[in-house]
Amino acid sequence: MTWKCETGEPPIDFLTDKLKLGGLKTLAVSPKILRVYFHVIRTTSGTGGVTTADVNTALNVLKNDFSVAQICIIEKGRSYINDDYYCSNITTTKFEQLVTVNNQPDAINIYFVPYNSFNGGRASGIPGNALVLDGNLMTTSVVSHEVGHCFGLYHTHSGRGCDDFVHCAENIDESNCSTCGDLVCDTPADPCLSGVVSFDCTYTGGGGFTPDTRNILSYTLPSCMNHFTTGQITRMHNTIDASTVLQNVLVKVVGPSTMRTSATYSVPDLPAGSTVTWTVSPTGAVNISTSGNIATLSYNYIWGTITLTASVTTSGCTANTNPKTITVGTPVPPSGQYMINGMSNPSIGYYTQYWLDSYPGATAYYFDVYSSGASLPPTVYPQSGPNLGVIFRSAGSYTIRVRVTTACGDVWFNNQTKYVTVSTYSRYVLTSNPTNEEMTISATEDTSESRSTKIKEFRISLFNEKGGTVLKQKSNGKGNLILNIKNIPNGIYSLEIIEKDRTVKEKILIQH
Ligand SMILES: [Zn+2]
Repeated sequence: MTWKCETGEPPIDFLTDKLKLGGLKTLAVSPKILRVYFHVIRTTSGTGGVTTADVNTALNVLKNDFSVAQICIIEKGRSYINDDYYCSNITTTKFEQLVTVNNQPDAINIYFVPYNSFNGGRASGIPGNALVLDGNLMTTSVVSHEVGHCFGLYHTHSGRGCDDFVHCAENIDESNCSTCGDLVCDTPADPCLSGVVSFDCTYTGGGGFTPDTRNILSYTLPSCMNHFTTGQITRMHNTIDASTVLQNVLVKVVGPSTMRTSATYSVPDLPAGSTVTWTVSPTGAVNISTSGNIATLSYNYIWGTITLTASVTTSGCTANTNPKTITVGTPVPPSGQYMINGMSNPSIGYYTQYWLDSYPGATAYYFDVYSSGASLPPTVYPQSGPNLGVIFRSAGSYTIRVRVTTACGDVWFNNQTKYVTVSTYSRYVLTSNPTNEEMTISATEDTSESRSTKIKEFRISLFNEKGGTVLKQKSNGKGNLILNIKNIPNGIYSLEIIEKDRTVKEKILIQH
């Protein structure tokens, strides 16, 4: 029995194209569940067409062939298309029309045309989500052959025969296997097996080939087809992972990717008798109540990212769905979370850092530093991400607020406001003179601690970000010290001012 598959090869391979774009990593094969939907074509009066028993057999053939590939096939449903037009002479035009009739985007659509109305089968694309198959072939692995095309597989003879010449021919020694033929390296070169395989599945052609006469993607006898190779299995999983069309076919968790206080998730279109076990990570991050294929999550304690996974057991196979990533949070986190960090009582003249822990989903941060009574405005340095640098130049009370931009828009984090007091009685005042490339540290009279005398002697050490000492100096005996920063590179440095009985630590910014 010879047969023909009319599936055309695309000029650009989907997977190669994705790899070139860097959009795909070679992933481990993990169990997946995918839906199929059967369309049975009959006459306009509703007669003829393939039998229900044959549709059931086709489903079982698919289940068996794909189970080794860790792809579990389940039936979403089946229905009839009653139209004489599609009962004979399936031309390319008719094919293209038929695969749009009642097409289910969340399934591989399998259109069975009446027995002997089509010379074989044809998939809508590589990859694709539809195929047409003659009733005569539906109970053989040819149905798996066409679904294999939908999952990204080419004919094993691609580039060598039977009208498949879009790809270059694979060498018999396999040396060009990743760029020619079916682009799979563990399928041997294949001259096209139509008419050259005996009933015991032996290759009877010549040419030095040792083809795989049992490969489902060859043109062997349908009764000989029984397997996919490991390379073909990997290619199918990678294609499913990378294809938007096939992601819709994959059984997965459906629901919103952001949640404020509660949200509902489901795994739709499962056959009766399926069971679903839900898991949230981190455990307990949100409350979860489940009812079969539906889970309702509600806020518990976390503002951040969680993952929701459903383990589905159906028709004898079990697979975890792709974990669904969900951002949990409100526009403004409660007080105590995502607070602005930094000194509450900074000194005048020192570079002071404030920062926020990265907020999930944030694309920008803007800090506002406000004072109601300061005589000089603070110097605010250009902001980068959730970080702010300020030099306060006069005493007073300051308010620092942050505005966070997310997909929901701009929101002021009012619960996170930082209140800062800069005292007149800072022990040290730092002034800089950009012209002379000097910074002066002056000790002040420290009435805040009932010290009546001015500090006259102190030492300083300046450390770079790696902790290395870059400068050590002593005051001049009048409570002043001129830092010579001419030869010190730009950056943020830690300054330690060491008095007789204590050490004051500050950060300074050097910018030439
Ligand atoms: Zn084919």
